[in-house]
Amino acid sequence: MSARTLYRFNGGVHPPEHKSESSGTAIVAGPLPAQLVLPLRQSIGNAAKPLVAVGERVLKGQMIAAADGSVSAALHAPTSGTVLAIEERLVAHPSGLTEASVVIDSDGLDAWCERTPFDWRAAQAASDGRAIRDYLRDMGVVGLGGAVFPSHLKLAGRDVLDTLIINGAECEPYITCDDRLMRERAADIVAGVEIVRQLLSAREVLIGIEDNKSEAVAALRCAIAEAGAAVDVVVVPTLYPSGGAKQLIKLLTNIEVPSGVRSTDLGVQCFNVATVYTIYRALEHAEPVISRVVTLTGNVARPGNVEALIGTPLADLMAFAGEQPGTREHIYGGPMMGFALPGLEAGLTKAGNCIIATAPADFPDKGREMPCIRCGECASACPAELQPMDLYWFARSREFGRAQERNLFDCIECGACAYVCPSSIRLVDYYRFAKSEIWAAEANKKAADKARERHEFKQFREEREKREKAERLAARQAAAAKPATTADAVNPAAADNAEAKAAKIRAAMARAAERKAAGGEAGSDAQAADAMDAEKRAKIAAAMEKAAARKAHLESLQAGEAPAAEAIDEAKAEKIRAAMEAAALRKAARDAAKVEAGTEPVGDAAAIDDAKAAKIRAAMEAAAQRKAHRESLQAAAPVVDAVPAAPAPALDPEKAERIRAAMQKREEEKARLAAMSPEERAALDAERQARIDAAKARAAAKGGQ
Ligand code: SF4
Ligand code: SF4
Repeated sequence: MSARTLYRFNGGVHPPEHKSESSGTAIVAGPLPAQLVLPLRQSIGNAAKPLVAVGERVLKGQMIAAADGSVSAALHAPTSGTVLAIEERLVAHPSGLTEASVVIDSDGLDAWCERTPFDWRAAQAASDGRAIRDYLRDMGVVGLGGAVFPSHLKLAGRDVLDTLIINGAECEPYITCDDRLMRERAADIVAGVEIVRQLLSAREVLIGIEDNKSEAVAALRCAIAEAGAAVDVVVVPTLYPSGGAKQLIKLLTNIEVPSGVRSTDLGVQCFNVATVYTIYRALEHAEPVISRVVTLTGNVARPGNVEALIGTPLADLMAFAGEQPGTREHIYGGPMMGFALPGLEAGLTKAGNCIIATAPADFPDKGREMPCIRCGECASACPAELQPMDLYWFARSREFGRAQERNLFDCIECGACAYVCPSSIRLVDYYRFAKSEIWAAEANKKAADKARERHEFKQFREEREKREKAERLAARQAAAAKPATTADAVNPAAADNAEAKAAKIRAAMARAAERKAAGGEAGSDAQAADAMDAEKRAKIAAAMEKAAARKAHLESLQAGEAPAAEAIDEAKAEKIRAAMEAAALRKAARDAAKVEAGTEPVGDAAAIDDAKAAKIRAAMEAAAQRKAHRESLQAAAPVVDAVPAAPAPALDPEKAERIRAAMQKREEEKARLAAMSPEERAALDAERQARIDAAKARAAAKGGQ
């Protein structure tokens, strides 16, 4: 026995051990069940994410679910078969709730998948141990002492560790799986201890074992000697709960881990013996965690320890152990920290170290709860140095905040307080209730915070989009306004000139309208006045068209676009036509005036006009021929992608409307003339000639007066 000094922790109790019933026989292989039920949540943290589909064939050791995040661990098929379902199934939990599980139909072949050896030593030399931690996570290694904390997380974060403690205390009554493992697989455990020591660079390694496991102590010491390992097996007094991590640390090192502090911050790390065994199997044999040793005891014919596949239905295990009639309930775990199972359909989990079939003889009814008499027995027994009666009152009155203030979460739910309570108060049930309520409230708060964050982000995003949209619109408007502004700034005189011209035109039109409204002269002067008005209107229309054409041309140049040749030709032709009409009207007026004045013969003037008109027609024909030639050249040229022209800046709406009205009027007149028959046209010409003749006659008469 080690001569190492031991230190006492507070409280502790000595419940009947009931270990001998199951510790006397060797570990046996469990049954190969027809169906396995594997809850995806096998550790603290996130449930694993399924990698298989219903109907898929799987092999023993194949990863069927991957770790989800860092606080999670993978899950593997414990045997070969077919995935029957991925669905909610009852799990081994006091709540009786279901959880997502993978159900595998075993094919009875128990065929392994291909296993690739992992060179963890090379991996450690090549990195800071990250690859090894990831590998252990993917091999599904979690704490098998009951807490199922992902082991890879316990191997991270420190350069050097003062003390590595291997927990072989197994202090809870009835449970003997670690005892049998230490006795039968001591060499593998020592190999695992050496690996963990190396990964953590631990200066000192201690294996703590209660003094009721002398065979295990002997086996380990022998294995350590054979391996030449510097590991000290420390035998500790049997006192429940010496197997609690904080209690064992206190026992072996006198270090007290305060509330809210991790033991690694104080230079100590703790692993269960079964966990280091699985670390060894994973790193040296590429074996994922697909089975564990579980104690089957209580009201059974063959109590003992079975190496059972994870997911084995608990009913199969109890049948394997030969459960006897008269069982009242089944406890998952030990009698102090375990809980009554809601049903045996659930599958064995990695946390399942013991199943006890309780019979009334060994588990007498605790009787009705009585009021707390504040005797203080619970406080004396509490290894966490809490005030259990206060926690009970706060939990019962739902004052969860006050329970938290009294360090509710330091309670390890060891049950020592309830064990000694003379009022038979199920104290641990109250603490579990309070903890679950607090966790639920925190989960709700987290969900509410997340929802609020999402809402705030949505609002922020909408406002940002609105702002960006407004900025884009403003930029577009500024870009549209910029050319005109620039042109005006560059050539303000031109802009002023155009505006002045437009004002003049408007004034002239107004004067003409006034004159017309005044009625003008009666009788024979009316036709001459009409002719003069028509001439002015034609001038005005021509001037407006010219102004509009100039403006459009200027704007198109400002917009950087070249006017289409066709549009230019059409504009030119239109201008020529308008000019011809205006010239004809002017000439008619001049002729009338000359006839009246008797200064020029009408026939010569008409001949000159005809010659001019012929010239203009010839010019127009030549222009048309040039245009046709250009178009034929363009048609022969290679086609290039059309570049969409930027829209021309809009004309002054009032002006554009006037131009449109004038053009429409002219088009209507042209259409009317085109629709006339030759006879009607001849009649119209005769009428016009008659008007001219009449005007000439009036002019001659005036000249004779
Ligand atoms: S042991 Fe029971 S009765 Fe005594 S103080 Fe604690 S809760 Fe109350
Ligand atoms: S269950 Fe909690 S309160 Fe009760 S003795 Fe254990 S640690 Fe203390």
